[in-house]
Formats: sequence, C-alpha cells, structure tokens
Amino acid sequence: MLLNKLLRASVRSGIRLQSSSATAANAAASSSGISPSQGFSFELTDQQKEFQQLARRFAREEIVPVAPAYDRSGEYPFPVIKKAWELGLINGHIPQEYGGMGLSIFDSCLITEELAYGCTGVQTAMEANSLGQMPVIIAGNDAQKRKYLGRMTEEPLMCAYCVTEPGAGSDVAGIKTRAVKMGDEYVVNGQKMWITNGGKANWYFLLARTNPDPKCPASKAFTGFIVDADTPGIQVGRKEMNMGQRCSDTRGITFEDVRIPKENVLVTEGAGFKIAMGAFDNTRPPVAAGATGLAQRALDEATTYALERKTFGKVIAEHQAVSFLLAEMAMKVELARMAYQRSAWEVDQGRRNTYYASIAKAFAGDIANQVATDAVQIFGGNGFNSEYPVEKLMRDAKIYQIYEGTAQIQRLIIAREHLGRVKK
Ligand SMILES: Cc1cc2nc3c(=O)[nH]c(=O)nc-3n(C[C@H](O)[C@H](O)[C@H](O)COP(=O)(O)OP(=O)(O)OC[C@H]3O[C@@H](n4cnc5c(N)ncnc54)[C@H](O)[C@@H]3O)c2cc1C
Repeated sequence: MLLNKLLRASVRSGIRLQSSSATAANAAASSSGISPSQGFSFELTDQQKEFQQLARRFAREEIVPVAPAYDRSGEYPFPVIKKAWELGLINGHIPQEYGGMGLSIFDSCLITEELAYGCTGVQTAMEANSLGQMPVIIAGNDAQKRKYLGRMTEEPLMCAYCVTEPGAGSDVAGIKTRAVKMGDEYVVNGQKMWITNGGKANWYFLLARTNPDPKCPASKAFTGFIVDADTPGIQVGRKEMNMGQRCSDTRGITFEDVRIPKENVLVTEGAGFKIAMGAFDNTRPPVAAGATGLAQRALDEATTYALERKTFGKVIAEHQAVSFLLAEMAMKVELARMAYQRSAWEVDQGRRNTYYASIAKAFAGDIANQVATDAVQIFGGNGFNSEYPVEKLMRDAKIYQIYEGTAQIQRLIIAREHLGRVKK
C-alpha cells in the first residue's frame, strides 16, 4: 500500500514537472521559430515512457493473472481498479486544480493501451470514468468540477455516462428521457440502457430532453446534468450478461421523478447535445487505444503460439500462410496505434479532431476484431477453447465496433467531415 502511494505521488509530481517543462519547451519552440515539421517525432518523452512502463507492468502483474477469473464470474474488478487508482493509472486527465494529474489525451491513451492489453473488461470499467467525467471536464463550472471531479481524486469512485436508451443509441437525438423545470429543480423521468458502471457509479452525466417541441433542433432540445447516484427515484437495473468484457458493469437505469438541483445543469439548459457529443472527441482516442491494446495482445499470443506449435515437422510460424497472417496482423496493429496517437495529439493541440477520432475509433475497432479472429485461427482448435486466451479476446473485441458510436456511425462522421472539407 505504501509503495503504491509513493508511486502515485511520484507519478503526480513527475507529471507536474513535465507539464511545466512542456509549456516551457513549447514557448521556446515558438519563440525560436522552429517549424512544425522540425518538431515531428515518434519518440515518447522519458515521462511518457515511464507512464507506459508503469501501466505495462501493472497490466502484466495485476490484470493478466486475474482476467480469466473475472471473465468467468462477471464480478466487478474493484480490487484491481482500486490498485490502479492508487497508482494514478485512472482519472489521469482530471485537471490539477481539482486534485488530478492533468494528463493530456495522448498520455492517457498510452496508459489505456497498456491496461487494455491486460483485459479490456477491466479497462472499460476504468475508462467509463473518463467518459462520465469528460462532459464535466469540458463544460462544468468551477463548483461542479470541484465537487464531482474532486471527490474522484480523494477516493476510488466510479461515474458513468448516461445517454443511450432502449429506443435510441446511434440516434442520440431520439432519446425520450424528459427533464421538466419546477422551481429551482428539474424533475426527470425516463429510462437509460447499456450504461457502463451503471451499478457502481457515484454520479452520472445524464442527457435528457428539456424542450418537448419535436421541431426544436437537437442543438437546443437537450440538457446535460450531473446526478448523484443516490438521488431518490433512481432505480438501477440488473447487471447485463454480455458477450465479452464481462466484468464491466452494464445496466439499465430508470429515472422516476428524480429531482436534480439547477446547480447541476452543465452550462445552460439546451446545451446538452453539444456537450454529450463533444465529449467523444476526447474519449474516442482512448477507445481506439483500448482496441489497439487488445489487438497487440492477440498478435503477441498468436506469435508465441506460432513459434511453439509444430505441424508437418516445423513450427507453424515457418509456414508462409501463417507468417503472412502474422505480418498482416502486425501491420494493422501498427496503423491502429498511429491512428489513435494522431487523433489524441490533434485534440491536445486544441484542434477539432472529430475526423481523426472517428478514423481511429473505426479502424482500431475493426482491426481488433480481425486480429483477434486471426489469432483464434492461428491457435487452431485450441483457439476455440476457453482454456486459451484468444477466445476471450475475440469476444471482448466485438464491442469496439458498437459502443461510443458504431462502426457505421463512425463512417457517417468520417464521410461528413471528409466531404465537408472538400466542399469548403
Ligand atoms: C457493453 C455496452 C456498453 C455501453 N456503454 C454505454 C455507456 O456507458 N453509456 C451510454 O450512453 N451508452 C452505452 N452503450 C450504448 C452504445 O453506445 C449503443 O449500443 C450504440 O451507440 C448503438 O446503439 P443501439 O444499440 O441503439 O443500436 P442502433 O442505433 O439501433 O443500431 C443498430 C444497427 O444499425 C446501424 N445503424 C443505425 N443507424 C444507422 C445509420 N444512420 N446508418 C447506418 N447504420 C446505422 C448501427 O450501426 C447498428 O449496426 C453501451 C453499449 C454496450 C453494448
């Protein structure tokens, strides 16, 4: 425990150093007139390598050994999450003024990829905190951030992003949950579905319709709220048993006359849709990083196996068909990593990254599925069996083509962004 606290403290102080030195370096670069092309580098800073190593070690030592048991039981991996919290491996992007480490999206993604390598069920449970927190980070006022982000740096609490409903997922503007203003409160009624951390969250980001007029544009019809999970009228549904990422807690949540104080509105009434969608520019890069971590794990498992398993007198890696399959898998993993890093880097520069975030999310989600399926192929019959690790990877991979915008919705966004650029 003491070691964990020390590590967490050292990570925190190191990041503070890095933040100030990075600012100084940027200032020096701009004042010296160094062009952006001269600054192009694939080299991680020493500090970034440290985060990566810390997360890698944590995944190998604390997640990999317990992942199969959590997958079988579906139990929530809170002991693992608690250890990760103590090391500063979750909630990294909470700004320093609210007790966090103020990590960039790029740095958070490096950590996410490593944790996902260990188990994407565990990593999704952790990552749902980022998704729940992001609307508050990008749109919360000082008091909201102090109250709701601050408490997450004081103890290992979870939160959740509460948007999807039984009748509306991709079509977010179709959500029916209603919030009606009554004096200084809003009264909320409706039903949410597929909420990650739904049964474990201390608070929710909630999107509800505040303008009942069906002609009102989405950009004005919805409001984003922060809701304490113990507010009377909130009923948490059963834990859903999913195909993969089974230890992640996914639930339906019913809101029945739930009263939310007006202080918990993000920005203002009617601003919710933009906030809910804007969060994705920051959270899709980490989702892509998670998919990349899974794909890297599948490649590593398949490579090790291909170098051990013999058929026709030689290891299967020496059959060209298998080695070419490994080569294809490696190409995909490398490109997915570059895509998520580019999309994270863009948003860290303060630029709109919607195009890159959707490319990264769509590509990494797709290749995670292809690479995991190819890994099962390389394992042959053993790959189909739950005693070997790749069967779980194949099940876990599927959700990357569904949550945070399906593979089809990402293509809609990429096409819209692409055509928009051309038409300008
Ligand atoms: C395990 C899990 C965890 C999740 N966690 C969260 C969470 O924490 N918070 C949250 O709010 N939500 C969460 N979700 C919900 C998730 O984001 C939605 O399931 C997803 O956005 C798809 O919505 P849907 O399920 O309603 O599918 P639908 O929108 O009904 O889509 C069905 C199919 O139609 C396709 N489709 C839909 N519209 C179009 C179109 N215009 N063009 C082409 N194809 C289209 C889709 O791509 C999909 O293949 C989670 C879901 C799961 C399964």
